[in-house]
Amino acid sequence: MIKINENFNKLQASYLFSDIAKRVTAHQKAHPEQNVIKLGIGDVTRALPDACVKAFHAAVDEMASDASFHGYGPEQGYDFLREAIAKGDYQTRGCNVEAEEVFVSDGAKCDSGNFQEIFSNDITVAIPDPVYPVYVDTNVMAGRTGEAENGRYEGLVYLEANKDNDFIPAIPSEPVDLIYLCFPNNPTGATITHAELKKWVDFARETKSLILYDAAYEAFVQDDSIPRSIYEIEGAREVAVEFKSFSKTAGFTGTRCAYTVVPKECMAYTESGEAVSVHTLWNRRHTTKFNSVSYPVQRAAEAVYSEEGKAQVKELISYYLNNAAYIREKITELGFDCIGGDNSPYIWIDGKMDSWEFFDLLLNKAGVVCTPGAGFGKCGEGYIRISAFNSFDNVKEAMNRISNSI
Ligand code: PLP
Repeated sequence: MIKINENFNKLQASYLFSDIAKRVTAHQKAHPEQNVIKLGIGDVTRALPDACVKAFHAAVDEMASDASFHGYGPEQGYDFLREAIAKGDYQTRGCNVEAEEVFVSDGAKCDSGNFQEIFSNDITVAIPDPVYPVYVDTNVMAGRTGEAENGRYEGLVYLEANKDNDFIPAIPSEPVDLIYLCFPNNPTGATITHAELKKWVDFARETKSLILYDAAYEAFVQDDSIPRSIYEIEGAREVAVEFKSFSKTAGFTGTRCAYTVVPKECMAYTESGEAVSVHTLWNRRHTTKFNSVSYPVQRAAEAVYSEEGKAQVKELISYYLNNAAYIREKITELGFDCIGGDNSPYIWIDGKMDSWEFFDLLLNKAGVVCTPGAGFGKCGEGYIRISAFNSFDNVKEAMNRISNSI
């Protein structure tokens, strides 16, 4: 008899996006004349940069002829892209990352979800609250938790982010082995300073733990005093793996390309305390279970680092940040406390009421869809997340409607 992985039974069904969809459909049925504006799901809305489209087309043309056709590529990614990433995102910014340490993949979702697989099931995992749910659910699937009670899984260490700590979780007082951090943060939009991040790196070095640092929104950082990579912190190469993605940087959510940096110095330990290279382990896992990203997509991603690509990405990010600034300004004028939206596409708003109640209010009175904070964890209760991924006209219209209905 085929048996299931019982850990899947522990998963709390995520009703968040299906609940949102249900409420939006019901609203649209009741108000067919109204154009509902969606500022909920964090998907981009603008086209790929022209430089990427050109490179994509040219690479597809190469596939059309036997002489320039590409079959399976190297699992870790083509050298041309790994080198462009190492140079463009790290070396030119003063970070020591080699092309060999870059693993190209089809998404930061898969990588941030899969990375835990190379570690023991006995480890203690620390996860922020509120959080991008992938980190939690993949550890539940792997069997690292007990049952969920009141929205929290037994066995996980929750790193609470709230107003009292400016949405930067404190270092845990108990021992932990694997730590997930995400900055600029989804869902709060919070950013971390070098000094605060250094505390985490120092903690990981002292305790031989490992940080999985999700920097999927790094391109939104405009302020030079905020780190764009954890490798800007001294010692991070020994204790941190970094996830990055072209999804939000260059509109690749539907095209799929991302990468993970695993420095050669990162170590994890056997039962007897012997150090093992995390790079070697991940390389083994990646080459066994993944067969690379398609050649045309990697060429399109490479174009992000061309002079033309860089200028177009800059314009794309500025466009969304301009939306974010507008949302933030209007929400603040309405008397709500919020964070994010300056070096991040997300604005995290204290609704001063139940987060689903606030969601319904915005939908029913303004025809605007946001995301209720409670869907991201216990600490999200009372908050909503508004995303800047839409056209400026829609954002302006949405904020006018919200202003007139609150
Ligand atoms: N990490 C965070 C924090 C995200 O918010 C998202 C997407 O919303 C991802 C990773 C997924 O990125 P990708 O499209 O590369 O899978």
